[in-house]
Amino acid sequence: MMAKFRILVFLTMLAAAVVGYPTDKTEPMNMTRPMNMTRQFPAPNAASRTSSLLVLPQKVTTPYHYWIDPTCVNMIGFPETFYEAREMACAAKRRLASKTDRDFERVFEYVFNAPKNDGTKYQKTDRWKKRNRSGAGKVPLSHVNYIFPGLCDDWSETYTLDNAHLPFICDNGAHFNTPIGIANEYDDLVHGIQGGKYYDPPQTGPTAYTSCGTIKGNQYDGQQQDRCVVTVCDKVYLNPPQGSMGWARTLSAFQQRNSDLSNVQVQMFLGWFPSTTILHEWMHSYPYLLDDRGVGGDPLKAYGWDNIIVKQPAESLLNAENYAFLGLWASLADIRRPDPQQPAQPPSGGYTLRRPDPAQQAAVEQSNREGRLVPYVDITS
Ligand SMILES: [Zn+2]
Repeated sequence: MMAKFRILVFLTMLAAAVVGYPTDKTEPMNMTRPMNMTRQFPAPNAASRTSSLLVLPQKVTTPYHYWIDPTCVNMIGFPETFYEAREMACAAKRRLASKTDRDFERVFEYVFNAPKNDGTKYQKTDRWKKRNRSGAGKVPLSHVNYIFPGLCDDWSETYTLDNAHLPFICDNGAHFNTPIGIANEYDDLVHGIQGGKYYDPPQTGPTAYTSCGTIKGNQYDGQQQDRCVVTVCDKVYLNPPQGSMGWARTLSAFQQRNSDLSNVQVQMFLGWFPSTTILHEWMHSYPYLLDDRGVGGDPLKAYGWDNIIVKQPAESLLNAENYAFLGLWASLADIRRPDPQQPAQPPSGGYTLRRPDPAQQAAVEQSNREGRLVPYVDITS
């Protein structure tokens, strides 16, 4: 296991050396990182938005491609959070496929208000129905399995913007300024897209948003037709919280510090991890097209642990934030720490919701309703 780990570190460092990525921020989060994931950007430079394919051999066998705009490559913190978002998707994919992961089954049931093996069929999202003819109902696991394995496996980076199904642009929406006089509507970088807005100053806007609307009859100019664009705003990295333990912006940073996350409320991560924001936005894009579906139709109640766990499956399965929480829990279960009682033993454990305990039913339910992280050395997988 250790040898495998060293090879993984070496490969990571090698990849980092090739693309000139700072190695001090590329430590693997755990030993179970899927081998098929490579971190390839940054490649485009600010001088040219159609970068050369000679920069790196590009895997082009995936059905979908993302583009990391130079504004994101140059945004401090973006590369590692983007990578962590992919890791969350892959962790969820792996745990969803498991027949023995009882801890993740419990998380699934809290997040979607339906057991993993529920046979009831639920409709797809409004965004999906608008774009696709069929909105036929699916069981909860089919809904979730459409999202995470796809996010993990079906995407690779393109260095040519025209090929991108999903450009990530980190400019607070400045790309929505139009050359044709329709202010804040036409995207002059990703043609044909509307629905964005330039936030200046960026503190006033959202952390990130996804635009998929197309201007009627507009030209695609040779770009991918099935595409959305994720705009990331500076706000996503502003004001990290000051806690007694010192709050990190990535799980891998917590892992490197051996931080004790026991009893932390999961909501903290959604608030302060840009990776969960990236994951959330990605799931709004084609082909997933998840909605923001608030409790009782209130769009503000689409977000936050308190809100997502009270939704019925007909809503929870449509709502991007519910899936972002599932991805986060999947990665939290992968965290490995040395046991302070047995420091000679290999790192173990991981965090999940509290397990059932007939003697303390009310306390267990309260802990889970509050989304508190509980460590278990024998976490299931
Ligand atoms: Zn959203």
